[in-house]
Amino acid sequence: MRAAVLVGAGDLRIEDRPAPQPGPGEVLVRVQAVGVCGSDTHYYEHGRIGRFVLDAPLVLGHEASGVVVQTGAGTLGPPVGQRVSIEPGVPDLSCPQCLAGRYNLCPAMRFFATPPVDGAFAELVAVHAAFAHPVPDGVSENAAALLEPLSVGIWACRKGRVTAGSRVLITGAGPIGLVCLQVALAAGATEVVVSDVNPARLALAQQLGASTVLDARTAQLGDLNRPPQVLLECSGYPPVISEAIRALDRAGRAVLVGMGGDEIALPLAVVQERELEVTGTFRYANTWPAAIALVAAGRVDLDRLVTGTYPLEQVEQALTASRQDPAAVKAIVAPQS
Ligand SMILES: [Zn+2]
Repeated sequence: MRAAVLVGAGDLRIEDRPAPQPGPGEVLVRVQAVGVCGSDTHYYEHGRIGRFVLDAPLVLGHEASGVVVQTGAGTLGPPVGQRVSIEPGVPDLSCPQCLAGRYNLCPAMRFFATPPVDGAFAELVAVHAAFAHPVPDGVSENAAALLEPLSVGIWACRKGRVTAGSRVLITGAGPIGLVCLQVALAAGATEVVVSDVNPARLALAQQLGASTVLDARTAQLGDLNRPPQVLLECSGYPPVISEAIRALDRAGRAVLVGMGGDEIALPLAVVQERELEVTGTFRYANTWPAAIALVAAGRVDLDRLVTGTYPLEQVEQALTASRQDPAAVKAIVAPQS
């Protein structure tokens, strides 16, 4: 099979590799669509993300959908021919965090496209059968792939306890901000303000139902008519994080989704005086059922986020699409084309 292999920073090659064999409890998936994530672009450009360093060739891509073509020994399902969305992190399912239901915090997590685990920019991948989630026919291949970033949005809204009548501020209107927006609306939020510096992304946020969009180059988050109760921070930009926390209502909740500097200045007096809750998020747990249901019911539109599709041979163009075109939102790699 063909795979796009990152050999070093900026050095990506198409290689022929032996097809993976599904082990016991695994299924082999013919990959149909893979979303490009900012983390893929970061690995491609820098060869590392924080403590994760590329020290051997790595296949990128972790937002994937496809069709089951083979099942390993003892696999209960899904069957051959089933369309699936791949949940790209498989925990050990036996440590205290896993047993507590927080499997995203499993220290033994094996996650696609994170050294040393290969990802899905390939024609075939083997994955734990329970992490290959069946999707209904009405969900497109691209949308099935993008259930992964949608899961990030679902997890952020759960951490922020977004509910009916919530006032939400989303800073950053990239793919994650835009799924957070849609999930917040589906959860019943009645005011969702989205800020960004990119007019094309703000326009898309408006089309997707944002109550207000703010151009962060000129608008002040503190000038909102009513202070938001929940901040879903998706920019990772330290000055914005600080300003957005200051804009929160008393007893508000700040969910830090975006990845920026490892350390930032926190307005601690504001956090204390207003009894703010500040939390990080790390991936997600138990989100695929909700993600599938939201898309199947038409409450979340993931196909609207797709702005380009590329064959495996053009993975590098896909990885740099958002650098080249400010209107680009989500690039998809289609390994079979
Ligand atoms: Zn575990």
